[in-house]
Amino acid sequence: MHNLEVLEQTFAIIKPDAVKDGHTEAIIDLIEQSGFDILAEEHCTWTREQAEEFYDIHRNRPFFGELVEFMISGPIVLLVLAKENAVVDWRNLMGATNPAEAAKGTVRQLFGTSIGNNATHGSDSIENANREIGLFFPELV
Ligand code: UDP
Ligand code: MG
Repeated sequence: MHNLEVLEQTFAIIKPDAVKDGHTEAIIDLIEQSGFDILAEEHCTWTREQAEEFYDIHRNRPFFGELVEFMISGPIVLLVLAKENAVVDWRNLMGATNPAEAAKGTVRQLFGTSIGNNATHGSDSIENANREIGLFFPELV
């Protein structure tokens, strides 16, 4: 049963490292094989302003500057995913923030190379998923 009206949504990004390394298709295949519907897909390159707004919650963290530079360093893929428990299930499929600590078979273990260059983003709550989806796909929230 795929009733889009009731399925939870989350926001995913395929980050510049994974796009540059040619992993976009493999990551999208994993997402689809794991039961997510892809409601929106946009290939783009962020401006500094877009990256700073998206990661505003991390503005005072020591890694903020590096994170913004990384996220504007090349093309990315924005995705809106839907399934039951989409937020938690996508976080689980991504694995831990640090690829060295990510479980075997997770996206970050397979395709990430460092705690910064960790292949994908995933919303950490339903509230943040709605905020993040609303920034880029306001028609979906
Ligand atoms: N990050 C980093 N250094 C750190 C922690 C995080 O470069 O010490 C980057 C990394 O790309 C991470 C992003 O900042 O994905 C956001 O950090 P967060 O703690 O929200 O991790 P996530 O929710 O992405 O697992
Ligand atoms: Mg986070």
